Amino acid sequence: MIELSAQVILLDIEGTTSSIDFVHKTMFPFARERVSGFVDKNWGESMLEECIALLTKDLGHETAQDWLKPETDHVQTVVDTVVGMIDNDVKATGLKHMQGIIWKEGFHSGELVAHLYEDTAPALARWKAAGKDLRIYSSGSVAAQKLFFGHSVVGDLLDLFSAHYDTTTGSKKETASYEKIATDCRVDAREIVFISDVPAELDAAAAAGMQTVLSIRPGNAAVENVDHYQSVGSFEELQVT
Ligand SMILES: [Mg+2]
Repeated sequence: MIELSAQVILLDIEGTTSSIDFVHKTMFPFARERVSGFVDKNWGESMLEECIALLTKDLGHETAQDWLKPETDHVQTVVDTVVGMIDNDVKATGLKHMQGIIWKEGFHSGELVAHLYEDTAPALARWKAAGKDLRIYSSGSVAAQKLFFGHSVVGDLLDLFSAHYDTTTGSKKETASYEKIATDCRVDAREIVFISDVPAELDAAAAAGMQTVLSIRPGNAAVENVDHYQSVGSFEELQVT
C-alpha cells in the first residue's frame, strides 16, 4: 500500500485507468471496419467533405481533384486511401478526424463501451468522496476522452473530473506541460499526484514537482528501472489523503 498526501490526482488513460488493448484491439479495428460504410453512407455530406479536405492536405495535394481522378470510383478511392493509412499507422489529421466521428457514432449507439480496470471506477469514487480533485491527461484528444469516460463499462463518469488535458497543453514527456497543468490546478505541484504507465512521463511530471506513481497493468510495456518508481498494480494499493 502506498499512502500519499495530495489535493489533485492526475490520471493517464491507456495503461493506467484502462487497457492499452482496448484502444488497439477494439477501437482501431472498429473504425477500420466501418470506413467503407461510413464513406458510402455520407458521400456528398459536408461532414465527409470536411474529412476529404483534411485528407487532401494530409496527402500533400492542393485540391481533392488531384487524387480523386474523374475516371475512378471516388468512394472506393477514399476508402482504400483511409484503410491504407490506418494499416500503415499514418499520423494524419484527416484520418484522425474521420476515426473520431466513427468512434463517436459507436459510443453513442452503444456498440463501443470504454474499458476500465475493475478497480478504476471504485477508486475514482473513493478519491472523489475524499474531496480529491480528479483530472485526466492523455494524448487522446479532450473530445475523445469525454466520449470515453461518458460511455464506460460502468456508465457516464464525466462528473467525477474537473478538467481534461491533451497534447494541446503540450507533450506528455515535457516538464513544461506539467507546469502548465499545475498552474491550471491552482495548487502547488507537490499537491498533485500523476499516475501513468510511462516512465518518461513520470520523470517529466516529477521534474515539475509533482508526486508520481507508476501504473503496472497486464499488457503494459515492461519498465526497465522499475525500482526507481513507486508503483501500483491496482488503485486499491494507493491511498491518497
Ligand atoms: Mg499511458
